[in-house]
Amino acid sequence: MDFGAGFAPLSQGEANMALERTFSIIKPDATRRNLTGKINAKFEEAGLRIVAQKRIHMTKSQAGKFYDVHAERPFYDELCEFMSSAPVVVQVLEGEGAIAKNREVMGATNPADAAPGTIRAEFAESVGENSVHGSDAPETAAVEIAYFFSGIELVG
Ligand code: UDP
Ligand code: MG
Repeated sequence: MDFGAGFAPLSQGEANMALERTFSIIKPDATRRNLTGKINAKFEEAGLRIVAQKRIHMTKSQAGKFYDVHAERPFYDELCEFMSSAPVVVQVLEGEGAIAKNREVMGATNPADAAPGTIRAEFAESVGENSVHGSDAPETAAVEIAYFFSGIELVG
């Protein structure tokens, strides 16, 4: 069997074409405050299955590579410092329309703009220290998953 770019088959069958995987990070501000369980409950309540998960502590250069799309932004250095300041939990979430659904559950980047009940509205401390990362499109989801997980870790 050849699973192509390191991906095991989706766990819930091929019939549902809308089943997707997205990449998520529970950021240092949240792991510091022991919010991993509460954040995971939000994902699971929304129908997102956590199909892979591990706790890691990134170096600044690993964080820098992950966020290289933002390299020219004024907040880049501070963001990479923050993301490497403490452990994070990296995850793959699977579900129907998982990429958009996760963005909905996360809420807006700035917690001041995040809808009530979203992770960022409830837990984020600031626009920078905003508790979670989520992929924004299928292409970025595939690249981000492959940056942190090997095919054998994606158990479905
Ligand atoms: N960020 C920041 N200041 C800003 C905008 C973003 O520190 O003005 C940080 C924040 O942690 C955010 C991350 O950079 O989550 C990536 O920014 P993006 O615009 O991609 O937001 P996201 O996709 O995480 O909602
Ligand atoms: Mg983004």
